[in-house]
Amino acid sequence: MTTSVPFADLHAQYLTIKSEIDAAIAEVIRTSAFIRGPHVDRFEASFAELMGVKHCVSCANGTDSLYIAMHALGVQPGDEVIAPAHSWISTSETITQAGGKVVFCDTDANTYTIDPAQMEAQITARTVGIIPVHLYGQAADMDAIMTIAAKHKLWVIEDCAQAHLAQYKGRTVGTFGNAASFSFYPGKNLGAMGDAGAVLTNDAALADRMAMFARHGGLVKGDHRIEGINSRLDGLQAAILSVKLPYLKKWTQRRQDIASEYSSLLKDTPGLTLPATAKDAEPVFHLYVVQHEARDALATHLKELQIQTVINYPVALPFLPAYAYLGHQSTDFPNAYRHQSRILSLPIYPEMSSAQLSVVTTAISAFCSGR
Ligand SMILES: *Cc1c(COP(=O)(O)O)cnc(C)c1O
Repeated sequence: MTTSVPFADLHAQYLTIKSEIDAAIAEVIRTSAFIRGPHVDRFEASFAELMGVKHCVSCANGTDSLYIAMHALGVQPGDEVIAPAHSWISTSETITQAGGKVVFCDTDANTYTIDPAQMEAQITARTVGIIPVHLYGQAADMDAIMTIAAKHKLWVIEDCAQAHLAQYKGRTVGTFGNAASFSFYPGKNLGAMGDAGAVLTNDAALADRMAMFARHGGLVKGDHRIEGINSRLDGLQAAILSVKLPYLKKWTQRRQDIASEYSSLLKDTPGLTLPATAKDAEPVFHLYVVQHEARDALATHLKELQIQTVINYPVALPFLPAYAYLGHQSTDFPNAYRHQSRILSLPIYPEMSSAQLSVVTTAISAFCSGR
């Protein structure tokens, strides 16, 4: 019998905490606390506390959290914001939404995070901010980024959508920049059962402006200080997230254990590039991404063995049709360009068994050694 290996298994996680989740959902329904209310307040407080940040402004999804932060930081038409060439499109599309201009910077050849060494070349008199992404769960080089930001008086929004509890020099990501954006999309390391997001900040005035903008421009019903948007975390999602939050450390540890098991079993595999851990980073492995010259053939081989893989992401941002207007060429971002045809994300989730893991590594070894 073959063991099939899904890329992720949200239902398996639900089953481990089913009674708590079911009770939390029933409680929200019983009290009709669907929008704002005690569940949202409680989650905001406990997430801020876990992260060691003063303010948590919840919102409808991770994409909105980036937009809300940029709007509250006062992005103006023509303002340039630097984003990595390799990320999910939320990172860059929200710059445009906020009225700014997207300026891409290449990512590091080994770690996939924005390369600070290439950043200064992108900075102009119009640059206002930087959005480093802790991609795949690994911290970007925050010391170098914060130094550049301070030198040029730029704000920094950390995109932590894939990096809940990831560390950089022993400090949790999301605590370095002016604000930190989080997604609780179901498949993220901390996932709701629908869309959900939040922004963290230690700046009380910024937190107020973000909360106000997310809630139709007013914190008190009827008192609209500005025009805003409707981007709220709902009570059901907040209650579900509050059930899951106490498990996050354990689930993160399990992801890290699976990643080290992968790395030790695959370390001598010919032609396979394993994830590189940056010197100062302790990644949380939202994704475990390998590289291979014959990536598509490898993915097909795994699929035939009922092992599900994903490409995150098949086309780097500057080369997407959405950014054709910027007129970039592959040589503008050689690392991101090279990665897009080589990267493959292997199954990883806390409930994955060692038996499933060895099915994956055996199949990869066979492919790579031509058996
Ligand atoms: C998931 C993700 C987002 C956006 O989150 P949503 O909740 O899906 O809107 C932003 N940035 C990155 C890097 C992501 O992976």
